[in-house]
Amino acid sequence: MIKVSNLTKKYGSNLAVDNISFEIEKGKIYGFLGPNGAGKSTTMNIITGCLAQSEGTVMIDGHDVFDEPTAAKKLIGYLPEIPPLYTDMSPKEYLTFVAEAKGIKSSEIGPEVERVMERTAITGVSSRLIRNLSKGYRQRVGIAMALLGDPEIIILDEPTVGLDPRQIIEIRELIKTLGEDHTVILSSHILSEIQEVCEQVIIISHGRVVANDTIENICLMGNQHPVLHIIAKCTPDAALAIVDEYEEVTHYAITECPDGTELELTLMPGSDITDQLFFAFAGAGIAIRYLSNRVSLEEIYLKLTETTFDGGEEDEPVITADESSDIETEEEYTPMFTGAEEKEDEDDSDL
Ligand code: ADP
Ligand code: MG
Repeated sequence: MIKVSNLTKKYGSNLAVDNISFEIEKGKIYGFLGPNGAGKSTTMNIITGCLAQSEGTVMIDGHDVFDEPTAAKKLIGYLPEIPPLYTDMSPKEYLTFVAEAKGIKSSEIGPEVERVMERTAITGVSSRLIRNLSKGYRQRVGIAMALLGDPEIIILDEPTVGLDPRQIIEIRELIKTLGEDHTVILSSHILSEIQEVCEQVIIISHGRVVANDTIENICLMGNQHPVLHIIAKCTPDAALAIVDEYEEVTHYAITECPDGTELELTLMPGSDITDQLFFAFAGAGIAIRYLSNRVSLEEIYLKLTETTFDGGEEDEPVITADESSDIETEEEYTPMFTGAEEKEDEDDSDL
């Protein structure tokens, strides 16, 4: 459906998109995930024909966006990061205006505007001025705009930024229903959003694709750097005495916790000592309260994009096995990507 090949975009000397290639198949919801400044908007602007690339090609269903923009753009509905809404118009006026600009036949404009307003649940506010609508409803107007002309592909650039938690849930639900009969690409810097809505995820960092797979397979990538999480009902010293027996453990972090001791063990690639450790702790009369050899998608995401955070310095004080005498207490782990910024917006009375 979409084929991006060796796409590069330079802004002066700044390489915003660095030779990226990927394909988008028909009928799925794709997540385009990456930290701020990764190159998501730039890539989406090029795919939708709003921005010229420096190098590379984008084909939409066989049409080159650069050489055949009209044919290619007909297949795409785009909600840019900042939707170009005319706030002195009502949604109905605005959508009618955009439908005309998109070249929809005048006899079809009325029913088409009604259709997209219904689909995005804005019929009830169709004659209010856009500027008086809440951000959630304005975003729906933007999505309605993308749906005009019934394009097969819908591209949404960070559609939930700045919305309150309830609006975020509603927009995510809307995106899921769009995925039932469209190919959807949704960009976000919020991992949980992508995880909840998308089937396939393309992770981008510093203008490069660092992962492109199903969420399930990206989680399996964790096997290349196996990590074991253990909570054992014992002292850190007792836990360390057991763990020290295994040369597969390359790094560990140990923290005292209310249940005893929490360990995060990094193992040699391809190794797994989950069962051995279970029996070793049990054999020493120590109860294991938690044991997991699964790496969370969040950890993989942070690893894949970690150079974004101040040159890739680790925020966790990981101690190595040969520094075993020096057990430090780690700070409590706080997830960095929990959802969107939770903003208060109690004034939703105007919809
Ligand atoms: P994202 O959408 O992932 O946050 P962008 O595509 O907006 O990332 O930006 C990628 C990089 O390109 C950033 O370093 C950003 O500062 C730079 N950039 C984006 N737009 C422009 C522009 N119009 N002029 C110069 N640099 C830009
Ligand atoms: Mg962006």
